[in-house]
Amino acid sequence: MASALTEKLSRLVKHISGQARITESNVADMLREVRMALLEADVALPVVRDFIARVKEKALGQEVLGSLKPGQTLVGIVNRELAATMGEGVSDINLAAQPPAVILMAGLQGAGKTTTTAKLARHLIQKRKKKVLTVSGDVYRPAAIEQLKTVTAQAGADWFPSSPDQQPLDIARAALDHARRQYYDVLLVDTAGRLAIDEALMQEIKTLHAALKPVETLFVVDAMQGQDAANTAKAFSQALPLTGIVLTKMDGDSRGGAALSVRQITGAPIKFAGTSEKIDGLEVFDAERHAGRILG
Ligand code: GDP
Repeated sequence: MASALTEKLSRLVKHISGQARITESNVADMLREVRMALLEADVALPVVRDFIARVKEKALGQEVLGSLKPGQTLVGIVNRELAATMGEGVSDINLAAQPPAVILMAGLQGAGKTTTTAKLARHLIQKRKKKVLTVSGDVYRPAAIEQLKTVTAQAGADWFPSSPDQQPLDIARAALDHARRQYYDVLLVDTAGRLAIDEALMQEIKTLHAALKPVETLFVVDAMQGQDAANTAKAFSQALPLTGIVLTKMDGDSRGGAALSVRQITGAPIKFAGTSEKIDGLEVFDAERHAGRILG
């Protein structure tokens, strides 16, 4: 299948047909197009630079220089490098812990944390046959606690009550205690999110992390956030040892360059993609398919 980028790169090469071999300067022109494609897909600039440097090394080898269809060959290399970068690591939820396995959800407000918490609960019930409890530590927004209650019911999981007059740490401890006594396999902890990174929020989630010792700390990020996703990812990965990423709103029209940025910046594997507002709108992340989308 010839992508738009393959066609562009092939056009770049056409005007040098007649030359016996493609030159290094042609490769540089092609890499410039790849760079543009990544920037158009909203991959963060430093991530693009690193990525192009890695591809360049490979592209200057015989594979491209000696190829009859260098444009296509280069796109192949780019695709493979994208998929390898985004696809390394384990994809499903790790539950290898003394039950209840705790999963801590982190991210900015509006990223899709609460929705994703319920989607994951459903996933763990349906695919892994687990007994799942959810709890909200978002004491700043009573509506968020109610929202988790509603979506947890849709997921067929149980919900542990919390209220705005409690401390998030007390809520988390009470939920964990309840989960232990009632033999839950998994406790999903939704946390407060602010509209922007702030120190108090980071401190609070660090405290929760230290107390809960989660087996998974998932960073939930909106794929539509583009360049901003990179900054958010950096702040969260500096505060917490992230074990995975959930990229939400992949049903939107972004080219999803945030996936590459966030993967590279955090080093954590992208485990799931959110594909709708509905409770079943969660898919295991497919790096190869996503590479094609980024390149357009
Ligand atoms: P939170 O503030 O991080 O807890 O975010 P919410 O879970 O409340 O989600 C914010 C908005 O994004 C809600 O309107 C959700 O329905 C919507 N949302 C979450 N995930 C997805 C997704 O994968 N696709 C779409 N289209 N909307 C989503």
